[in-house]
Amino acid sequence: MSFGSQPTRNVGPSEFNKRAFLLWRVLPTILIALAVSGAAFLLLEWSAREADRLSLERQRRLFSLAVMDMTENIAHQQESVTVWDDSVLHLQEEPRDQEWLDANMGSWLYSYFGIDASYLLDPDDRAIFASEQGRLLTPEVFAGVAAAVLPRVDRLRAVLRRDDPADVPDRMDSAGVTDLAMVRGHPAIVSAKPVVSDTGDIVQTPGEQYVHVAVRYLDGSFLAEVQERYLFNDLQFDADVANAPGALQLYPLFDGSDATLGYFTWRPVLPGAGVSRRILPALAVLCMLAFAGLGLFLWLLWRRSVALGATEARMHYMALHDALTGLPNRAMFVERVESALTRSAAGRGGTALLYIDLDHFKQVNDTLGHPAGDQLIQEAGRRLQGLTRDTDTVARVGGDEFAIVMTGVTEQAHVERLCDRIGDSARIPFDIEGNQIFMGMSIGYAMAGADGPGLNELVRRADVALYRAKSLGRSRHVVYEKDMDALLQERRRTEADLRIALREGGQLQVCYQPIYAARNGALTGFEALLRWQHPELGPISPEVFIPIAEETGLIEPLGAWVMREACTAAGGWPDLVISVNVSAIELRDPDYAGRLADLLRETGLAPERLELELTESTMIEAPGAHMQNLRSLRGMGVRLVIDDFGTGFSCLGRLQSLEVDRIKIDRSFIHALGRSSSDEAIVRAIIDLAHATILETTAEGVETEEQRARIRALGCDSLQGFLFSEALSHRDADALVAAGTRGAGPEPGATDSRAAREADNLAGPG
Ligand code: C2E
Ligand code: CA
Ligand code: CA
Repeated sequence: MSFGSQPTRNVGPSEFNKRAFLLWRVLPTILIALAVSGAAFLLLEWSAREADRLSLERQRRLFSLAVMDMTENIAHQQESVTVWDDSVLHLQEEPRDQEWLDANMGSWLYSYFGIDASYLLDPDDRAIFASEQGRLLTPEVFAGVAAAVLPRVDRLRAVLRRDDPADVPDRMDSAGVTDLAMVRGHPAIVSAKPVVSDTGDIVQTPGEQYVHVAVRYLDGSFLAEVQERYLFNDLQFDADVANAPGALQLYPLFDGSDATLGYFTWRPVLPGAGVSRRILPALAVLCMLAFAGLGLFLWLLWRRSVALGATEARMHYMALHDALTGLPNRAMFVERVESALTRSAAGRGGTALLYIDLDHFKQVNDTLGHPAGDQLIQEAGRRLQGLTRDTDTVARVGGDEFAIVMTGVTEQAHVERLCDRIGDSARIPFDIEGNQIFMGMSIGYAMAGADGPGLNELVRRADVALYRAKSLGRSRHVVYEKDMDALLQERRRTEADLRIALREGGQLQVCYQPIYAARNGALTGFEALLRWQHPELGPISPEVFIPIAEETGLIEPLGAWVMREACTAAGGWPDLVISVNVSAIELRDPDYAGRLADLLRETGLAPERLELELTESTMIEAPGAHMQNLRSLRGMGVRLVIDDFGTGFSCLGRLQSLEVDRIKIDRSFIHALGRSSSDEAIVRAIIDLAHATILETTAEGVETEEQRARIRALGCDSLQGFLFSEALSHRDADALVAAGTRGAGPEPGATDSRAAREADNLAGPG
């Protein structure tokens, strides 16, 4: 029953779709991942640039601050000597002490503050002192810088003359003019300050003060100082922009009248570039990790999808296949028939639909158990599949029912050949758990061509044909023919008529076939047999209407009626046994035994005189009301008989375990006596076994003297058959009993006109 061992052909279409997975899962994921990592890199690049831009802006601002700061510093540094009483006094001295001036207002400023040049101008702007690079020079050198310096001094004097305290800047002690200018071809800070009293004790005429001029070149020590203090790299001054290398930062320098003096250049600090240079590898590694993670995720997803696809395919397979045989089930079968019919309608060959039924399968299931039944079904399915072409479909459509769809059928002979092959194969015994089981197969089939019939009609026809095959005696195949519908119609009519017969009375009659002791020919009892005289069709065989009654449930009222008739009749036959046929369906009613007990009480018939004839399968049906009834009946003393023993599926080995009193050997065995030695051996075995287990035996259907002699020789207890008498009417049976033909029964002359009837009966059963 394992799933894995099933045939793999006909696997469903819902396999895992790899293309779709690549297109709709992998591709979008990769695209999104690429887009995200691309965006991350762009963002990094942008923020690096932005950081650099901000940094440059800062550096430029810092540089301009540095220049302003240094410029202001110079004024402060100057004031350390220009706002001082000593300086004012020394300048008023004649001759002036050049050495003192140099020590305090020249070389001192140079060595402490890096002021490159200091000049002192008298109230008439004549140079009285000059010191450059810490060296005392003659005042005449001032002429070299006068052009750059004097305009600033003029502006200072104008301010001084105003003598407005508002002109003295915060944090300063005196007014001043500070400016950028080109001095001796170099950019420089030029600062002019009046020499004034720090105590205020020495009063001077505003504008008439001595003026100290400090010059600080921007391309000399200034650069080194700014570079050191504010951390600019490779700070330089260039008068001409064109000379500045590209990667450097430019800072234009303007003098007071906004003329460009030149440019400061430096190698800028670019944090963004550095950060991005440092982050880039980390980001790349992160991206790679993310990609690896994504890859892993996709791989897991892939595996899951594959597994899911497999599960889906398996579920699809299970939805369309029978779990036991692995064959297509009814759903898939219908699909196949439909597609076959579509092909046929398109003129691409006919379709044949075969219905196959295992004969007496139920008995195997009941006797050997369900596992054995399952094995049998599997083996049957395997055999059928082995006999068909790959284009045919073998399906299991019911418990023990298979169907085959044949496509592209051009001749009926093809279908017939397949049927023959199936029949041949079924004749090989099935080996189930060590038991050799013979199991015939009944086949009914129907065909469809380009112009129909449709699915439902085709299925119906195959079903009708199968029904026909079974009613013809099983183990055969039958093709659907139109008149089968008529037969079916007839069945329906029979059913309706049987209802009427049961309701209105007069048509049905119970007849009684005598049974004799084999030993001495004494009449021992009767078997009650139902007769139906149809008002239009004449007599109808119970073999025709009993199965219909069983199928339609009519068997219950019918059986009850026969039982009442038989028990009543038997009341008039002292010491004789009455055998009544009981259908398995009647025993399913839990009240059956109770009702029979009531009937026996009512008719006064002793239970020991009543025998119920049951088929073997009835005896071994599954537990339930059935078994309960049989047990109660036996408890009451009613005797049980196995009818038709040896037909269909029989199991000699089980004989001992059956709780019965008698077995009736089927008439087919009796007919074979003298013709088939194997059948005779079977009969002998049955009788011997029955005797060994104290069972009585009855031979039915004894038609000839020879059969009587042989069956007697084999040791059978009772005899029944046309050789002695067919079933008699109630009145004739009464007469037979009254005649008291004790011991005369099996001998000639038992009844009147016996010879004539015997001749008739030998020709065939009535
Ligand atoms: P059965 O139980 O096997 O009954 C014996 C059948 O064999 C009867 O057929 C009988 O007429 C026939 N028969 C007797 N002697 C001979 C003979 O020497 N040669 C041949 N060839 N046949 C012989 P019948 O009456 O047609 O009944 C057929 C079957 O219908 C019965 O088979 C039984 O299974 C069923 N049946 C008949 N009456 C009833 C009934 O009241 N209730 C139920 N449930 N089934 C019934
Ligand atoms: Ca019988
Ligand atoms: Ca029988």
